[in-house]
Amino acid sequence: LGSSLRGTLDKLRGKSRLSEEDIEEIVKEIQRSLLSADVDVSLVMELSDNIKDRALEEEPPAGTPARDFVLRIVYEELVDLIGESTELPLEEQTILLAGLQGSGKTTSAAKMAWWFSTKGLRPAVIQTDTFRPGAYDQAAEMAERAEVDFYGNPDNDDPVDIARKGLEETSDADVHIVDTAGRHALEDDLIDEIEQIEDVVEPDTSLLVLDAAIGQGAKDQAQQFDESIGIDGVVITKLDGTAKGGGALTAVDQTDSSIAFLGTGEEVQDVERFEPDGFISRLLGMGDLSQLAERVERAMEQTEMEEEDWDPEDMLQGQFTLNDMQKQMEAMNNMGPLDQVMDMIPGLGGGIKDQLPDDAMDVTQERMRTFTVIMDSMTEAEKEYPKAIGASQIRRIARGSGTEEEQVRELLQQYKMMERTMKQFQGMGSEQEMQRMMQ
Ligand code: GDP
Ligand code: MG
Repeated sequence: LGSSLRGTLDKLRGKSRLSEEDIEEIVKEIQRSLLSADVDVSLVMELSDNIKDRALEEEPPAGTPARDFVLRIVYEELVDLIGESTELPLEEQTILLAGLQGSGKTTSAAKMAWWFSTKGLRPAVIQTDTFRPGAYDQAAEMAERAEVDFYGNPDNDDPVDIARKGLEETSDADVHIVDTAGRHALEDDLIDEIEQIEDVVEPDTSLLVLDAAIGQGAKDQAQQFDESIGIDGVVITKLDGTAKGGGALTAVDQTDSSIAFLGTGEEVQDVERFEPDGFISRLLGMGDLSQLAERVERAMEQTEMEEEDWDPEDMLQGQFTLNDMQKQMEAMNNMGPLDQVMDMIPGLGGGIKDQLPDDAMDVTQERMRTFTVIMDSMTEAEKEYPKAIGASQIRRIARGSGTEEEQVRELLQQYKMMERTMKQFQGMGSEQEMQRMMQ
């Protein structure tokens, strides 16, 4: 199936404009791939409508092949639906696992503990399953293989009491992962039990563990567990099999959460922190979304850059993006206004900044705050290629950030102005040339 999507896409390679029929064909192939990956029908329909609308409405930026542009829309809409991975700070925390029997909770508890241990933390697994015979032995053995702390008590038949004692007994650990019992089906006593455990444990994060092969059943489970303990994220197990895990997206959508981990085998090391790009490639059945991967990689590099200190000289190299603008605005908080920042760039004397339009300097604190809020509702790709932001995205961004469309447009105006200014500087070439010009 993936190959027919690829076939369709290959056929469109090199076209600078896609017809409505081309877009229909792509969307049909994507629908087919997603449905065969167990993604819920209504989700697929919603997604394909969004893709179609955007592909028809938005203009690819100059020089971008239409096919790449559509792929980017597909990717963005899927990321929008699937989300980034569930936030899990590398610090002290308690995680509660919920799910039906056989979904992979006990295995995932040990895997996650192992994963946290590779990050330099000290995890402990607490096994509260008193329902399934052998649950204690299985959990103890897996914790040993993961080389992490463990607590359980096969002689105690009160899971709530085990949870309480477990937290006390493993107080030397900083990450507590509480494994719970499942049942064959959702039952009231299972829900009662996990609610009581939740009361005692007070988890920072509650994760729903789902078998990748789960189909329509995901919705009910997600809803029930979400109502009883609140689900913050999903773990998808058994992705080493043939199932692609699309059913879990229903749970993500239903609980308004995200995916935290992927299980890819029976060993404690067979665990991955969820990354949208790999998962999306798998969902679409396309192993080498090279165009997309490239973009994703760039977006990821951008994220890494954001974490580093901002260097005014970076601005003079390469493309000026919204991320740069945001960094520049943040830097202004610390360094003072743009004209002073300009003074810090070697080779830029007083002369040039007099040529700046007055408005380029007009970044008041209040505007900055609004801009930051708006940018938080943009995707990484939008921040990188602000020029591709069209009317429908402006609408979405305004809605997502609780601002007016007018304010989003204002931000894009500001960006255009700053970008033009930066281009002026870039056009001046090397530092030496700049200095020569200034003499
Ligand atoms: P629990 O009942 O929810 O605690 O589920 P378990 O952790 O006991 O897992 C049920 C079965 O699924 C066990 O045989 C596990 O070895 C297997 N299992 C769990 N996760 C994975 C996985 O990611 N890949 C594979 N192949 N098997 C898994
Ligand atoms: Mg278990």
